[in-house]
Order: sequence, then C-alpha cells, then structure tokens
Amino acid sequence: MKYKTIIEPFKIKSVEPIRFTTREEREVLLKEAGYNPFMLHSDDVLIDLLTDSGTSAMSSKQWAGIMEGDEAYAGSKSFYRFEAVVRSITQMKHIIPTHQGRAAEKILFSIVGGPGKYFPNNTHFDTTRANIEFTGSEAVDLLNEIGKHPEIRADFKGNMDIEKLETFIKEKGPENIPLCIITVTNNSGGGQPVSMQNIRETKAICKKYGIPLFLDACRFAENAYFIKIREKGYENKTPLEIAQEMFSYADGVTMSAKKDALVNIGGFLALNDDDLAMKCRNLLIVTEGFPTYGGLAGRDLEAVAQGLLEVLDEHYLQYRIRSVEYLGERLIAAGVPIIEPPGGHAIYIDAKRFTPHIPPEQYPGQSIVCELYIEGGVRAVEIGSVMFGKYDKHGKLIPAMMELVRLAIPRRVYTQSHVDYLIEVITEVYNKRNNLKGYRITYEAPMLRHFTAKFEPIR
Ligand SMILES: *Cc1c(COP(=O)(O)O)cnc(C)c1O
Repeated sequence: MKYKTIIEPFKIKSVEPIRFTTREEREVLLKEAGYNPFMLHSDDVLIDLLTDSGTSAMSSKQWAGIMEGDEAYAGSKSFYRFEAVVRSITQMKHIIPTHQGRAAEKILFSIVGGPGKYFPNNTHFDTTRANIEFTGSEAVDLLNEIGKHPEIRADFKGNMDIEKLETFIKEKGPENIPLCIITVTNNSGGGQPVSMQNIRETKAICKKYGIPLFLDACRFAENAYFIKIREKGYENKTPLEIAQEMFSYADGVTMSAKKDALVNIGGFLALNDDDLAMKCRNLLIVTEGFPTYGGLAGRDLEAVAQGLLEVLDEHYLQYRIRSVEYLGERLIAAGVPIIEPPGGHAIYIDAKRFTPHIPPEQYPGQSIVCELYIEGGVRAVEIGSVMFGKYDKHGKLIPAMMELVRLAIPRRVYTQSHVDYLIEVITEVYNKRNNLKGYRITYEAPMLRHFTAKFEPIR
C-alpha cells in the first residue's frame, strides 16, 4: 500500500447520536451512581468502553439478514445458512446455536463436568470458570510464564504452558480430565494471542493422553490476524485459512457471537463427537430451544452467519488490531502505564503504576475509572481489587494480583477522532494523577460485587 493511513474499512449509513454532558452534570450523575460506572445510564456516557461484548455495529448486510430471517420453529433456512458458515470456518460436524457463549458452556460442562474432574485452560474466562465450578469440577489456569508479566513485550502472551499441562495431566490422571481448553485470544489475560505452534503443541499433548481439545473461540478472528502478522510461515495465508487451521486441532468449540461474530446476541457450541453432540442437543431442548434455533431467533442466526464472514476480512482485521494498537502507542508515548503489548480488544491501564499513592485497599483502579468519567464522560471498568478482592477472616482486604483499568473497544463503533479524544482525556487524567483520591466501599453484594457496589471518595 502506498499510503500509511489505515482507514476505517466502512462508510457510515446509520448513526446513533451521543449525548454531551458537562463536568458539573457528570459529578452529580456519578455521585448518584454511587461512584460505580456500572450504575450510570448509558445515555449519560459519551464514549462507552465498558465491554466489547454485544456492542458491535452491524453492517447493512447483517441488517438485511435480520429482514431475511426465517422464523420457522423447525428447519429454518436461516439455521442452515448459519450452520454452513460456522462449518466452513470450524469444519465441525455438529453445530448447535445458543443464546450466548455461557449457554454453550453451561450445556457442555453440565454433561462432561462433575465432582473430581479438572479442566485446564490457558486462562479461564469468568463464565467458563463459573460453569465448570458449578458442576463441582475444578478450573485450572496454566498460562505461560511470560503472560504473567505486564511489563514484558512478547508476541504470544496468551500461550498455554505446555510443560505444566503435561505435568498436570500426569498428576491428576487423564481419566479425570474430560477436556482441555484454549481461549483465543486470552480475554482474562488482556486479549493476548495464542500462537499456532502453541495450539499444535497443546493438541499433541492432549492426543497423547486421549483428551479432547476445545477452543473458547470468542475472538478467533483477532487471534488469527495476530498469527498472520507475528508468526513465521503465516504471513501469506488468509485469516480464514489460519482460522481453519486453528480449528483443525480442536475437537470442539464454544463461542460467544457477541465478540467476533459482530452481533449483539448469540453463540454456539460446535463439536465432532456424535454421542456428546446428541447429549448436548437433548439438554439444549430443555434449556435453550429446538436444535435449529437454540436460544435465538432466525434473524439472529442470519446476522451471526453474515458477521462471521465479515470478521475474517483482512482490511477489517487490520483496522481493528491497528486501532487498538494506536491507542496503546499514544498512551505509552504520553507516559501512561499500560499492559504491553496491547491486546486485540482492549487496553489495560496499570493502576498500580498510574496512582502509586493509592493503596489497593483504596481501589486505585476505581479512582481512575471515576476520574475518566468526570473528566471526559468516558466509561471504563476496574479489573482489580473491586472485582477480584477477597476478605480474610478478620475482614481485611486480600488485594487482587493486579490493579487494572480496562478500556474495551467495541467493534466498528468508534472512529479515529473518538480515539484521539480518548487519548487526550486519559493523558489529562494522568497529568493530574497526584490529585486522585482513594475510595471506600459503602455497600457490596455477597457475590460479583463490582456490578452493584457503592463507593465514596476518601477525603
Ligand atoms: C464473553 C466470553 C464468554 C461468555 O460469553 P457470553 O456471550 O458473554 O455468555 C466466554 N469466554 C470468553 C473468552 C469470553 O470473552
């Protein structure tokens, strides 16, 4: 390409206005929300980076698919289109639609899980862990050592630790490990990619011990693109070819279509084992619906099918990965400490280095999240001691391993000027970091407290 500017590979046909608020209004709104951005009305947010899940902008072809949707209870033509597209990418024999990723997990682990069983993963996403633990099994993270160091730059920080995996299998016994999982990209590890070599090596170990390998494939296309630009031998392959190779090592797939299928709701379970597929479909009928619609409407299946084709477009992936990287680069240049290198779907600010004067007991990540909203109407999420902190038996906080603020980037929603505005806001908050105050919790629920907790600033 002659020109270095990477443009958004789309034109805008329909727009959704965003509402501007004043700093004074935001101070009141945040106070009313108990200093918890989860409690804000989205209409009061200017740039919403709470999550990349279900927040994608659909294309004109996806919206056309919504009109095309066949709502027949059984045998819908939209299902057959969805099935054909998912099969062309994953090559799996059985394709089972679900209303979102966790529904696929719930069905799968209800059948293969149970007390005394173990599920290794590079890093379990929280719903995956919850669905495994709910059956009485143990979910174990075996992330490669380098992935645990936010300050080290490396190409594939999402990789599974192959040696640990083999030791783990020998220790627990392959008969107690119903399946092994690789999450691409590694969401909880900062959206860091997994290399093809690592998937291949994981498969070899699994095969040696007769353990099926499943991919948690929510961001499979972003992972495929990272392989293309970072792994030797893949530079001339298309994202589709790379994705097909990734799936060729898997025996099954769980997928949240709310990420890389560019839709607002949807998911699926795909697998090769006939007997397991039959059991999954039987449970699906009880919990989701008939096998040709699962938990979805025919129109949703059309939108997923179309989204899966669009997400593998190389221009889209280049724009996607580059726009997240651009945000990361500019923040680094401004001195803002972030996890390096930037992942596929989000930037993670390292709150411990951003506000070293605020101890974990006073929630430095929450303080930054609040200031980002007040300063610029930006909504981010704390991933630190608010989300993962526990109390010891004396009621003292056991802090999380890391204090992070996640800026998740919705797909195809914001343009470069939105990102430039973000860079200005974050830089301004960083320059004023010494004035940031800690927070204390005034209300918390017994479980998943970050969603509904209330805070007050410590004066
Ligand atoms: C989002 C996500 C899930 C769960 O999917 P939902 O559609 O939110 O239920 C599972 N695994 C990973 C890696 C995810 O990012």
